[in-house]
Amino acid sequence: MVFKSFFNYFSSDLAIDLGTANTLVYVKGRGIVLNEPSVVAVRKDVKGGKKVLAVGKEAKEMVGRTPSNIEAIKPLKDGVIADFEVNERMLRYFIRKSKGSKSFFKPRIVIAVPHGITQVEKKAVKDSAFDAGAREVYLIEEPMAAAIGADLPVQEAVGSMIVDIGGGTTEVAVISLGGIVRSASVRVGGGKMDLAISNYIKKKYSVLVGEATAEKIKMEYGSVYPVEELEGVVIGVKGIDLISGVPTAIELSTDEIREALKEPTSAILAAVKDTLEQTPPELASDIVDRGIMLTGGGALTKGMADLIKRETSLNVEVFDEALFAVVKGVGKVLDNIDLLSEVMMD
Ligand code: ADP
Ligand code: MG
Repeated sequence: MVFKSFFNYFSSDLAIDLGTANTLVYVKGRGIVLNEPSVVAVRKDVKGGKKVLAVGKEAKEMVGRTPSNIEAIKPLKDGVIADFEVNERMLRYFIRKSKGSKSFFKPRIVIAVPHGITQVEKKAVKDSAFDAGAREVYLIEEPMAAAIGADLPVQEAVGSMIVDIGGGTTEVAVISLGGIVRSASVRVGGGKMDLAISNYIKKKYSVLVGEATAEKIKMEYGSVYPVEELEGVVIGVKGIDLISGVPTAIELSTDEIREALKEPTSAILAAVKDTLEQTPPELASDIVDRGIMLTGGGALTKGMADLIKRETSLNVEVFDEALFAVVKGVGKVLDNIDLLSEVMMD
């Protein structure tokens, strides 16, 4: 169909996952065109004004390495917009970058936003998108988007449970007939896990490690349930000795890392259990049959599925593209008007 492909070439509708750790953008026909950390580096002048120096990957590399007048800001903290002004600039930058200069049509934009976001924050997100040149803007809730992205039958009269473990929050939801029936959101995600690791090292060894180092340790050697590949593994960790103030190195076992991750992990487990307890019986029996789906970067923590499986006695599966579930879900909604009208937020 010549006409259709002509139309597709010019339309540049965007699906956006505005996450606390990463922002992803999907464009119909082009796939995921942007995947960058939700970080903005700003320079503050004496009058309190902020000049944006870098956004995304480049800004994240500056975290922990900035002089005092430069700050690397994560505008979304704990699933809410902590810095409106910076969030708006970041969103505008990502939208412009994704749109490309070729398109002269104003895009339709669907954005997944954290579950707990307020009316004021919703308006701020919409306004930023309109400012960046959107023709229409729709918002959908992250857990709903994650469930759609992970191919759960959200529109059917059957209960599906999704657990999206992001950077700032973990969102648990039971979905049926296009709506969220029960949900919980805790301000614990990958970020708190990083912090738990650095706090553990600080307390036990009096050594200070940076945020980026802690995150690396977690991703490569962290586990929340014993896994064979990490058994008996000991790693070297570099940091600053708190007493002498000089750089030093310590040895850390994977058992110690798992110990450090206990607290944030139990908060995630509690949210899952609470939601299960409040789920109406018919839907609960569906979840017994169908299990729990995990998405988000935190779902990739080694042993996460096994831990939840053991604690709930339910089947647990990690979506194979855990980091892309939300943006894929928003992309599906963008392509399907009926689905959009059913699941969009007001
Ligand atoms: P958000 O939706 O809040 O932007 P994401 O779903 O993008 O968050 O997940 C980001 C979090 O996932 C970060 O805390 C990151 O450290 C963590 N993460 C990413 N990959 C892994 C991995 N392989 N193992 C453990 N944690 C991971
Ligand atoms: Mg997310």
